[in-house]
Amino acid sequence: ILEINHMKKAFGDLQVIKDISLSVKEGEVLSIIGPSGSGKSTILRCATMLEKMDSGELIYLGEAAARNNGEGKSVYSSKKDLKRMHQYFGLVFQNFNLFPHYSVLKNIMDAPMAVSKIGKEEAEERAMSLLKKLGLEEKAKAYPCQLSGGQQQRVSIARALALQPKMLFFDEPTSALDPELTGEILKVIKELAKEKMTMIIVTHEMQFARELSDRIIFMENGVIQEEGSPEQIFATDNARIKEFIGKFV
Ligand code: ATP
Ligand code: MG
Repeated sequence: ILEINHMKKAFGDLQVIKDISLSVKEGEVLSIIGPSGSGKSTILRCATMLEKMDSGELIYLGEAAARNNGEGKSVYSSKKDLKRMHQYFGLVFQNFNLFPHYSVLKNIMDAPMAVSKIGKEEAEERAMSLLKKLGLEEKAKAYPCQLSGGQQQRVSIARALALQPKMLFFDEPTSALDPELTGEILKVIKELAKEKMTMIIVTHEMQFARELSDRIIFMENGVIQEEGSPEQIFATDNARIKEFIGKFV
């Protein structure tokens, strides 16, 4: 469903992503772990086209969003094609990123109405059914500031799902939350995994990554140091990875 080939990205002199290739199949859950500054968020930002990579290919459902020209520079597809491909994925951030002056309901309805061109009624129906699924029905009229962090994060997951994406990206979805609120978000993500939603999740929740992932990638200094099943990663001989995981469990 997603293929990244030889992604490279620098900020000034700093080569943040050195040469990353990865792919995700439909229904798969891939977790990315690794120390702060290793480039995890940058991969997600490039994969979701919030940021342009310098070099490398990005292929969604067999369709190229970016290809290398002969000189190893990424060339992106037309605006129109990219706009369509944007609908293939949803993105959930660490800090919720809700519109503060919109109600919960409007936060969720807004994008589907603007992007998928569906009517108000249908958008509202879709939003309400998502809120119900996430246990937030009674908060439809509330504003983000009136919600707990965990509730806000559930709204941002509902907002991502409202566009009916083929896959979801999560960037540390629980790291801004108190431990007791973290569990409720992890539960929602587990539920999505059960429904076979394709997901790439950047997380520091090692136990969660271990239970949920089909594959785990350990990143350091802009490269994939190791990739494997949770069993493989958690039983690695690599001292650096062992030490890293050890800090969290
Ligand atoms: P964390 O676990 O702390 O979220 P991360 O693995 O997500 O870390 P990135 O956010 O991808 O790390 O950042 C990787 C490196 O790129 C860091 O050194 C960071 O300072 C740098 N960087 C990220 N975005 C920018 C930017 N827009 N301009 C300049 N440098 C950036
Ligand atoms: Mg990050």
